[in-house]
Amino acid sequence: MNLSGTRCAQWADAALDGRPVGANDALAMLSDSQLDAMDLIHAAGRVRRARFDNTVTIHILDNVRNGACPEDCGYCGQSRDSTAPLKPYKLKPVDEIVADAHAARRSGAYRFCMAISGRGPSNADVNHMCDAIQRISAMGMRTCLSAGLLDRAKADRLKAAGLDRLNHNLNTSSRHYPNVCSTHTYDERRDTLTAARSAGLGVCSGLIVGMGETHQDVVDVAFELKRIGAESVPVNFLLPIGGNRLAAPHCQGEPLTPLFVLRVLCMMRLINPNSEIRIAAGREHHLRSLQPLALWPANSLFMDGYLLTQGQSAHDTFHMILDAGFKPHLDNPHELPDELRDRITRGVDGSRPTVLPSVDSALPEGRTLLKPTVTAQPNP
Ligand code: SF4
Repeated sequence: MNLSGTRCAQWADAALDGRPVGANDALAMLSDSQLDAMDLIHAAGRVRRARFDNTVTIHILDNVRNGACPEDCGYCGQSRDSTAPLKPYKLKPVDEIVADAHAARRSGAYRFCMAISGRGPSNADVNHMCDAIQRISAMGMRTCLSAGLLDRAKADRLKAAGLDRLNHNLNTSSRHYPNVCSTHTYDERRDTLTAARSAGLGVCSGLIVGMGETHQDVVDVAFELKRIGAESVPVNFLLPIGGNRLAAPHCQGEPLTPLFVLRVLCMMRLINPNSEIRIAAGREHHLRSLQPLALWPANSLFMDGYLLTQGQSAHDTFHMILDAGFKPHLDNPHELPDELRDRITRGVDGSRPTVLPSVDSALPEGRTLLKPTVTAQPNP
């Protein structure tokens, strides 16, 4: 084995044995041109398969309140400062959220993730979401909520309603955070995660790469998430949304490339071997033709789009997973339409699935789960 392969294999061995991989090694994974990306992908894939076999958990996002946020997060089209052409809407009625969850489940979603715009939820917002969560949990569906800053009392109420996980991304390092947002602090974000953990909620917290940070910032947030013990780590790559303050994705002064995106995902896997690593926003835009390789380090993804932008369809997502030799984690396969279940099974067995329904096709006519209103600028 050459030096590159040997170093990557040693990192995988360490991750599998529970020995720490150091920050300098993590930096090398991002920036050392002597390291072959395929060696890194192979090493990360060994760890991923040891921890999560060949399964892929599929998450579907529901933007339950859109826009009109008083915060100034530079990456977000819902921010007070963004001029992205959004169509804001108020909190969806509980019946509508529950119908969205049913549709997500029938499309093969493993977890239903709800997001509310704003600095943090009011007591009335929490009551509303508790009603929705109780009904969705009663369906046997896993839930995750992203609701901004939360204190322990609100986290307790959500936990009592049946919420599994709270999502609140650290986004970047504490050092870089003031360049991203000035209306709340990194410590407030950490406090929200502490409240979630104290309430017994699972912690979903990740990052956004491409907001003008350095490689060191990316490594620092990877280690902070390890320290926190985030069970779930969504790894986002900044989408160039016109009207947002941060609209030109770059890291360490360089534009994001597909191979760099893969290096980030591999580093996140090797530093956080036991966490669910999710390839999140920017998957299609930044990985382009290399998307399937992300399934070696990552064991989870979003299907049918993100909060504000469209993404790969359910059909193409299942197709990609099966073609690459992985298997969707179907929590309730018996509840899927026969046709969908059979096609997925056939795909695992080697044949190609044909047409799969989108989430929106499972909703009443005229309704869509997501309301994408902004479009990422095309790659140069
Ligand atoms: S990320 Fe959340 S808090 Fe920040 S501007 Fe967007 S909706 Fe508001």
